Amino acid sequence: MKAVAIFEHGGPEVLRGTELAEPPIGSHDILVRVRACALNHLDLWMRAGMPNRPVQFPHILGSDIAGEIAKIGDAVRTVKVGEKVLLAPGVSCGECAHCVAGHDNFCRDYTLLGTTIPGGYAEFVQAPAVNVIPIPDNMTFEQAAAIPLVFTTAWHMLFNRARLQPAEEVLVIAAGSGVGSAAVQIAKATGARVIATAGSEAKLAKARELGADETLLHVGEFAREVKKLTNGRGVDVVFEHVGAATWEQSVYSLAHGGRLVTCGATTGRETAINVGYLFARQLSILGSFMGYKSELHAALELFKRGLLKPVVDTVFPLERAAEAHQRLEKREQFGKVVLKVG
Ligand SMILES: [Zn+2]
Repeated sequence: MKAVAIFEHGGPEVLRGTELAEPPIGSHDILVRVRACALNHLDLWMRAGMPNRPVQFPHILGSDIAGEIAKIGDAVRTVKVGEKVLLAPGVSCGECAHCVAGHDNFCRDYTLLGTTIPGGYAEFVQAPAVNVIPIPDNMTFEQAAAIPLVFTTAWHMLFNRARLQPAEEVLVIAAGSGVGSAAVQIAKATGARVIATAGSEAKLAKARELGADETLLHVGEFAREVKKLTNGRGVDVVFEHVGAATWEQSVYSLAHGGRLVTCGATTGRETAINVGYLFARQLSILGSFMGYKSELHAALELFKRGLLKPVVDTVFPLERAAEAHQRLEKREQFGKVVLKVG
């Protein structure tokens, strides 16, 4: 099969077109003919190399996959060959206490397609049948690929971790990112008042189109602006994934009893915290990583109702994966950068 793989870690130039064997499938697996694969920052990190996530070269990146079922294992009863599907990115053991509770992202064996196992920068990918979800009608493969990782992550952060309520106010940092554009929409669909930040006026305008009630540039002491927009109170929930560059102002944007939830640190992992400010205001700092498969199923219901929509920034052919990586690296995008396969 055709694939774009990495044979070593490094910059975008290590992404190389190649021919690899079609993956074999087990009795509970499916083989998907990949039609689209969306990029995540995770792809950039895996390409550069992550010490705790070893890969076997040649390695195929890509966690967000949509396509058609090409083959099914003997024991698979839920899908048919030819069906249009997307894949939940998280793969877990399926048997431990966390997995049987539906909390698959807590499984000790939890991994993601395209990280320690092959992903979607290829004609075919193998996955467990439990990861398959049919694509709603009237959705393209590129749109479907733009959904799984970021909507699962944002859903888990807002509802499972931060317990967002309809009457609350939420600050979404970097609404132009994939996960930020998902969070704006999910929070808005819930009824929350959404304040969104971005690094440019053009991105702020797009955030308002997605439903943000208020927008502001995340430069300087932006917490002051947040306080002005909330009658001096601050927000109930801060949705973080930027890390060092915005962390301090994100904390200062919280109301008394507020919750900051984070799933990433794209600008740096080390930061300071004023412990006095934390306890005196009874703040909560919450970590979050991916989400449950059931949360992706739930999000897809809101897509069917028209309350959420995929945000596709640009589509590159698979052969131009290196250019797609550069676009994400430079933070030029609003929403998802997607590879079209085949
Ligand atoms: Zn498990």
